Amino acid sequence: MKMIIGGNRVDSRDGATIDVFNPMTLEVIDTVPSATKEDVNEAIICAQKGFEEWSAVPLYKRGAVLKRFAALMAEHQEELAKLLTQEVGKPINSARGEVGASVSKTEVYVEAANHLGGESYSVNNCAYVEDSLIATVREPLGIVVAVIPFNFPVNILVNKVIPALIMGNSVIIKAASVTPLASIRFTELILEAGVPANAVQILTGSGSSIGSWLVDDPRIAAVTLTGSTRVGVEISKAAAPHLHHVMLELGGNDATIVMPDADLDYAVSDCVANRSANSGQVCCCPKRFIVHNSIKPLFLEKLIAALKQKKVGDPMLETTDCGPLVSVNAAKQVEKQVAHTVEQGGKVLLGGHRYDESFFELTVIDTPKTADSARSMEIFGPVWTVIGYDDREEALAIANDSDYGLDAGVIGKDMKEMLWFLKRLQAGTCVAGACGRFCPPYSPFGGYKKSGLGREGAFHSLEEMSQIKSLVLKRCYQ
Ligand code: NAP
Ligand code: MG
Repeated sequence: MKMIIGGNRVDSRDGATIDVFNPMTLEVIDTVPSATKEDVNEAIICAQKGFEEWSAVPLYKRGAVLKRFAALMAEHQEELAKLLTQEVGKPINSARGEVGASVSKTEVYVEAANHLGGESYSVNNCAYVEDSLIATVREPLGIVVAVIPFNFPVNILVNKVIPALIMGNSVIIKAASVTPLASIRFTELILEAGVPANAVQILTGSGSSIGSWLVDDPRIAAVTLTGSTRVGVEISKAAAPHLHHVMLELGGNDATIVMPDADLDYAVSDCVANRSANSGQVCCCPKRFIVHNSIKPLFLEKLIAALKQKKVGDPMLETTDCGPLVSVNAAKQVEKQVAHTVEQGGKVLLGGHRYDESFFELTVIDTPKTADSARSMEIFGPVWTVIGYDDREEALAIANDSDYGLDAGVIGKDMKEMLWFLKRLQAGTCVAGACGRFCPPYSPFGGYKKSGLGREGAFHSLEEMSQIKSLVLKRCYQ
């Protein structure tokens, strides 16, 4: 596939390309261009024109175009899902779910934008401004750069591109290098729906080069990244001299606390379902399972039994629960992290090995609370890190002993006890009664600590993608 600059499908100026692999077959399924600095410059020039044009379109007309896009996405659900399965390796049913959720999220953003009011004040409370009226409106920021990770190339695009567009910004998408195909098709459909060619463009190429050319440019206004904390810090540094608006959704090592009174069958099924999604490559899935020592042996027994029932294999098959990891490198990284956890005293009770290059066995590790994976080492793969605790203070201390704080969950029956945890857990979303993976459209989503800056969610994303202007009628009643 090609990049889309100014509405044209283009190669890079020097003809360089990046191979895109199917992690199941390990075959090259396509190539995408590796953009040059001149390509990036051209996209920014187009985006400046796109901003002028699109920001002048009234909100209700922008909304109508984006609703048409939602309908087009629904029409192309199967095509997009197949691309996702081929490039990410996620099971076809999950891929269909990702596209379906993206359709309804797009509709929600458009709907929310229609209800985004401002504030008004009649000022009589200080001298010099008596009888003035202040009303606020929201205006777009300008050119928004949206940097996308590999794991949800359609859903995360929706979370960034739709709020930016509905608020009147122009957008330059930087696709993930390992999974750019569904993102390119997504962009083609947005253009087909009627967004002007310069208002949305997509570039491909390595983040360390084109990402920094885009961010370190005075002509852009904002960067929104979903990705690792390391890249979030790099982007913040590059954006700082320009004071670009920066929004970051970053990594996590989310804790789920299983209390002694928990229904263990329910707890295990929730921990399995949420950790195994996308083969464990989800930012906000539970990655640390902090289980009361009185029930830990039974929890482990039931967890291992449940995981043995899971079907790992070809993600194109309807019956597959877990596919390969996104790449051979990703699987090797999990292999290293598992070995590191074992060196630090972890005991592998199930799985533990990479196979067929890009697959990793569903793995359970009984882990001491001092190990890196029990604290701030995010394992992006199907690994259940189980840590024991004796009292609630210890459970809370383990959960909070991490640089991350995206989501957290507590599973048990005693509501008072669960609320005690909810008030004290350091995470952006804290759930009682389930693992923490919770991000429906209207819920504010984002991280404490090194898990991010800012919040996504229907109204929150619209606010992040716009700025407030105060309109003042001074002494208007005189
Ligand atoms: P990543 O390595 O941080 O890459 C994310 C994106 O940033 C890619 O498009 C990458 O380009 C680009 N990039 C790399 N260096 C850059 C730079 N210096 N300037 C600008 N862009 C740059 O993350 P990933 O491996 O794709 O995704 C996994 C991580 O994302 C995990 O930590 C996960 O927890 C996190 N995540 C967070 C959320 C959330 O909502 N909080 C959701 C999903 C994932 P290349 O592809 O070319 O390297
Ligand atoms: Mg791939």
